[in-house]
Amino acid sequence: MDRPDWAPEDIDMERPSAARMYDYYLGGSHNFAADRAAAQQVQAVIPDVSVSAQANRTFLRRAVRFLVDSGVRQFLDIGSGIPTLGNVHEIAQQADPASRVVYVDIDPVAVAHSRRILAGNDHATAIRADGRQPDTILGHPEVRALLDFEQPVAIMMVAMLHFVSDDDDPAGMVRALHGAVPSGSYLALSHGTDDARPGDGAIGMAIYRNTANPITLRTRAQVTALFDGFELVPPGVVWVPQWHPDSPDEVGENPERTGVLGGVGRKE
Ligand code: SAM
Repeated sequence: MDRPDWAPEDIDMERPSAARMYDYYLGGSHNFAADRAAAQQVQAVIPDVSVSAQANRTFLRRAVRFLVDSGVRQFLDIGSGIPTLGNVHEIAQQADPASRVVYVDIDPVAVAHSRRILAGNDHATAIRADGRQPDTILGHPEVRALLDFEQPVAIMMVAMLHFVSDDDDPAGMVRALHGAVPSGSYLALSHGTDDARPGDGAIGMAIYRNTANPITLRTRAQVTALFDGFELVPPGVVWVPQWHPDSPDEVGENPERTGVLGGVGRKE
């Protein structure tokens, strides 16, 4: 298979990745045949998966607007994905051009494309790092150069922590990040769950097991527990369309069909 010019040379194009499958669900073009095949397997079981991805994306945009309105000007977006419409830096810098954003992803395509679109933007960058190693992220020279950890930071982990298994201790990861930011900082998080559709979730997890990023779905109680140390902003952990919707239409009749829970918490 020919390697497109946006694909870094060391990439395995035969192994599906969560970043590129998600790009496919969102109608993007940064994905390979293996990603599309795996994504189509998921779509066969969960036909709403593209709608879920869109709903997750609109949650992310509303959360960033909320954070900007709450006075936050620094964003550490871990598991940021392949850039698409309405990226964090676009929303935050539209509100205040001085807003600073660091994108972090484990996927080389996500990082390469992010760096390409951020060329010339002195207030935003993207680094390749593994979110399971928060100390590496917190000590990274580009992170230290751009973010001031004496000032509030919004930690974003949107549709990311379900790629961290229980063995890799997602709560410990959040704890390390919580410890590094001052009060007035926030955590914005969304997470896949099979609370509403247990059977489909098990099949979806089985498909992701063969990708670079196996999934661990969690219950609402488990997702809520990940906010330990942060005070949940009302309405708490809800289906993503229910979190600060711009209109009742945005919620729809069956928000649980997204299979994605989200919330925002503040470090007091
Ligand atoms: N946050 C974006 C959003 O919500 O639109 C992208 C979400 S996408 C479903 C999940 C992203 O998490 C992918 O880009 C994937 O590469 C990234 N990811 C998965 N495991 C990761 C890890 N251990 N460290 C950093 N990024 C990771």
